[in-house]
Amino acid sequence: MGRIHVCPNCGKYSLKEECMDCKVKTFEDLPARFSPEDRYGKYRRRLKKENREVS
Ligand SMILES: [Zn+2]
Repeated sequence: MGRIHVCPNCGKYSLKEECMDCKVKTFEDLPARFSPEDRYGKYRRRLKKENREVS
C-alpha cells in the first residue's frame, strides 16, 4: 500500500507522487504530531507557565 500524498497546488489527496489535475509533484501527508505548529504551541504554553512563576 502506498502512502497518502497531498498536492501542494489544489490540496487534493492522492496515492501517486504526482497530482493528476495539476501535474505537479505531491508530498507525503505526515501525521499531525510532526507538525511544527504543535511544537510551537507546547513552547508557548511553557513560556506562559514560566511567566506565572516569575510574577
Ligand atoms: Zn493538484
